[in-house]
Amino acid sequence: MSVADNIIKIKNELPEKVKLVAVSKTKPDSMVLEAYDVGQRIFGENKVQDLVSRQPDLPKDIQWHFIGHLQTNKVKFIAPFISMIEAVDRLKVLIEINRQALTFNRVIPCLLQFHIAEEETKFGLDIDEVKDLLESEEYGKMKNISIAGVMGMATFTDDEDQVRREFRRLRNIFRELKVTYFSEEPAFKELSMGMSGDYHIAIEEGSTMVRIGSDIFGERNFH
Ligand SMILES: *Cc1c(COP(=O)(O)O)cnc(C)c1O
Repeated sequence: MSVADNIIKIKNELPEKVKLVAVSKTKPDSMVLEAYDVGQRIFGENKVQDLVSRQPDLPKDIQWHFIGHLQTNKVKFIAPFISMIEAVDRLKVLIEINRQALTFNRVIPCLLQFHIAEEETKFGLDIDEVKDLLESEEYGKMKNISIAGVMGMATFTDDEDQVRREFRRLRNIFRELKVTYFSEEPAFKELSMGMSGDYHIAIEEGSTMVRIGSDIFGERNFH
């Protein structure tokens, strides 16, 4: 099936309120345009260099989501145009996003990335770190970021019960944060979870945003 067919098929499967992030990392601009031509507007990238080099050549109404680990010294390159930074995994990077967003006179929506996988991975926050962050004086002063929700990745495994358990954990974190810190903030609404291998489970567990790469663009040769 073509990229266009894949987009149409997946869009038909998604509940209306679930947003599709088409993860175009490592794939050519021609494939992005093929998806764009059937109405796809949100695309995800995980490398600053790749994103910065392709963004000027592609339609300006594309909403780029940054979904990778972001180094603080690279925030400035994406700050002028990024629609959402999905993988905020430390206070330091949030401070820098705020600083750069101020420079460009923007408010940048961010998701807090949680470590939910039972396997060991390097990136992501835990609930205690996030509570400290949200209660910190520094956070209170940040006017150029908007926390739009949370993001997480389940373990790469065939064990569906485990994947479901991990997504459920993220949903519970989302609800706890919503009630405790964001009940007056409608902008805090996204629960970004689900990739090609597990997005059906993620949707059953309440995902509002799925990030799908290989089911749209085909397998990647490298990450
Ligand atoms: C690559 C990537 C995806 C998409 O993965 P697929 O399995 O190809 O759908 C989603 N989220 C993040 C954070 C990624 O890095």
